[in-house]
Amino acid sequence: MSLISESARVLANDNLRFTYSCPFSGAPSSRGHGEMGTACAGGMAGVCFVAAATPSPPDETTWQKHPPPSALPSHWINKKPLEKLNYMFSNPLNGRVAKPPRNRPWSSWRSRRFGMTLILGMLALLCLMSLGGVLVWTESANSTADAKLLPSPFNEQRAFEDLERFAALGPRPPGSDAHDWTYLLIHLSLLGAGVDVHNVEFDSFKASTPVGEIEMTNVIAKIPGARPEMVILGGHYDTKRMKMRFVGANDGASSTAFLIEMAHVLAQRRNRFTYWIVLFDGQEALKDGSASDGLYGSRHFAQSLSADQVKQIRAMFNVDMIGDRNLHIHRESHSDSQLTDLIFRDAQDLGYGRYFLERPLSVEDDHMPFVRAGIPAVELISLDYGPFNIFWHTPFDTVGKCSAVSLGIVGRVLLDALDDLESGRTPKPLLAFLESGAAGSRECASK
Ligand SMILES: [Zn+2]
Repeated sequence: MSLISESARVLANDNLRFTYSCPFSGAPSSRGHGEMGTACAGGMAGVCFVAAATPSPPDETTWQKHPPPSALPSHWINKKPLEKLNYMFSNPLNGRVAKPPRNRPWSSWRSRRFGMTLILGMLALLCLMSLGGVLVWTESANSTADAKLLPSPFNEQRAFEDLERFAALGPRPPGSDAHDWTYLLIHLSLLGAGVDVHNVEFDSFKASTPVGEIEMTNVIAKIPGARPEMVILGGHYDTKRMKMRFVGANDGASSTAFLIEMAHVLAQRRNRFTYWIVLFDGQEALKDGSASDGLYGSRHFAQSLSADQVKQIRAMFNVDMIGDRNLHIHRESHSDSQLTDLIFRDAQDLGYGRYFLERPLSVEDDHMPFVRAGIPAVELISLDYGPFNIFWHTPFDTVGKCSAVSLGIVGRVLLDALDDLESGRTPKPLLAFLESGAAGSRECASK
């Protein structure tokens, strides 16, 4: 805006006569000397400003009345630099000798100055248009606002309230007070979800990080099923340690709220598999640049699994940043391809195919320690967060960028996939793979 008002000031000072017309209404308008034709609002979610001006050519009378600024006077040469600068700022030609006007009005100094003003105006207009475009993009890019949610035990509104509650705790990096409140709140929420009090565990450990040793805590909710074979649902609850205020509504709170809601659903029904819902700590790197910095909780958890437990795990699903109101879940390259196929097929069947994109994306997240242990794991992440990813790891990651519907979509797709696994409605190779306990044999082969 300052640019526009500055242009207005310069134009007014120049005593230019010009006309402008609104590009939308087409109404022409003409203003007298020293008046600035301004705005016409409309277009893409922003204010659009267009002015087309025609300066009156300088004539001899005007030239004599308002001579152009002259060069730096000789007695100023020996002045102090600051005083010189002052003089030059008050002189639009910065001390250069002004040429007298020629007969061609567009080459006169007034016209050049007018041209500069016009260019600045156009630049301002471009900035406003790109801002409008970005806003429109944010609203329309794969927004889940219009998605139809089928009836489901997954209560996305309840999950979203949890998301708001966790984000309201503020930044929650390991070692902070808010972090400790977070895992206590997770514990209470899991009990409230109906998980037996004896089946909720804190798995605390000291993590060696680039900023020193920090105590971290995974929270594990075990929901026993008819069979000992296990399915693990995971996600992280910590937020990235940053100098700015970063509340991680999507990156931290959405996975936390989602897993608590999954606990609600799974604890209220009889399951074939045993489910472990694991809220990982220390997913975020504490200091960027080191390969071993991050995934502290999931690495600790995977390392502490016994060989027998690894053999029992049939699948691991990790969720991260799934609260994004513009959902883009890509095929993740490290993930188990058969389980990914299952997820993508169910997403198509439920009518949410447009949010599950075939273009592969490679992400180092909490599923990786499981992948490396030979456990079939799938990463569900909407990493493309905001235009040019500007909401990711920035103070823009707030509740307003998230949506209950997005949580609802991922919840329905994952529940459908779990139902397929439980009932054996899976593609034949996957079923054989699950029944044979191939995870264990892969794990043995990898060691
Ligand atoms: Zn993150």
